[in-house]
Amino acid sequence: MKIHNFSAGPSILPQEVMQQAAAAVQNLDNSGLSLLEISHRSKAFVAVMDEACETAIRLTGLENKGYKALFLQGGASLQFLMVAYNLLENKAGYVNTGTWSSNAIKEAKALGTVVELASSKEQNFNYIPKGFDIPSDLDYVHLTTNNTIFGTQLKTIPETPVPLTADMSSDIFSREWDYSKFDLFYAGAQKNMGPAGTTLVIIKEALLDKVSRHIPSMLKYKTHWEKDSMFNTPPVFAVYTSLLNLRWVEAQGGLKALGAKNAAKASLIYDEIDRNSKFEGFAAVEDRSAMNATFNLVNPDDAEAFDKIWNAAGVSGLKGHRSVGGYRASMYNALSIDSVQVLVDCMQTLEENY
Ligand SMILES: *Cc1c(COP(=O)(O)O)cnc(C)c1O
Repeated sequence: MKIHNFSAGPSILPQEVMQQAAAAVQNLDNSGLSLLEISHRSKAFVAVMDEACETAIRLTGLENKGYKALFLQGGASLQFLMVAYNLLENKAGYVNTGTWSSNAIKEAKALGTVVELASSKEQNFNYIPKGFDIPSDLDYVHLTTNNTIFGTQLKTIPETPVPLTADMSSDIFSREWDYSKFDLFYAGAQKNMGPAGTTLVIIKEALLDKVSRHIPSMLKYKTHWEKDSMFNTPPVFAVYTSLLNLRWVEAQGGLKALGAKNAAKASLIYDEIDRNSKFEGFAAVEDRSAMNATFNLVNPDDAEAFDKIWNAAGVSGLKGHRSVGGYRASMYNALSIDSVQVLVDCMQTLEENY
């Protein structure tokens, strides 16, 4: 039976990416050696890293604009610390739109003053705050563009008088978007880019020497910038597989084509959530995420019947995060609209039969 993988992360990757990655573990580009047993300083792997960085910059439209892409480790969670370590001298502004934003705030607070510019915490993060002031004496502003757990997504990039940074872990490469408005953004690979184990950081050169504190080498963006992500041994499998997926993104027609596909998938599921008397959406309609759709049963007693229906249809990974409950359908780039249709059919089966 075909499995329809709605997992929030680690999450679905294109079948062909999985096959190519498996083949490279056996034999990288007919070298007779596994991707896992060659030097990261070999010509073959340096070419992989270079192409991965170039493709990430090309897809985000940032060529010749003073940015570099870095493939680091430690997940988005280490970026919560690194952003503050490298940029927070006095005071930074954070917008609190969920669990991950809250974690970023917590890390930054250890290094300076954090101003919470806005928060949707009082409504269990079911919307994105808008129209808040951004003082010009901040070192930077930090946003989370897609709130994986709550199913909200930033649609408009706020104008800021100070550098703009963002956690894009769960919606990077999912839509056309003016990435040049951001001075630094990062994403753990395991949502929409590749396997767990690497974190993409795209950073502007102007942000490299911003603070007076001593920064340990591994935590310093300048170290990784100067060494082109090869200061220490990079996670070769995660970087290679991310490259395969970025090639796939380009072959699909890039962010414009994938953005349209993702919008069509989102319309399909949200139209059904709104139409079907058995379900209600969690997130504010205008802030709904095209990546993670969160919804609940109107009557929780239907859970047993609904769970049976979608399990039987091969739907996987639909359980909501414990802080929201209900269901969460994660619809990253590799998920086909046919899989969303299977889920919609399950929702209709519930309504028709119970
Ligand atoms: C999953 C996720 C994280 C955590 O990423 P790690 O790589 O596990 O540290 C951070 N931010 C967002 C938006 C996420 O979806």
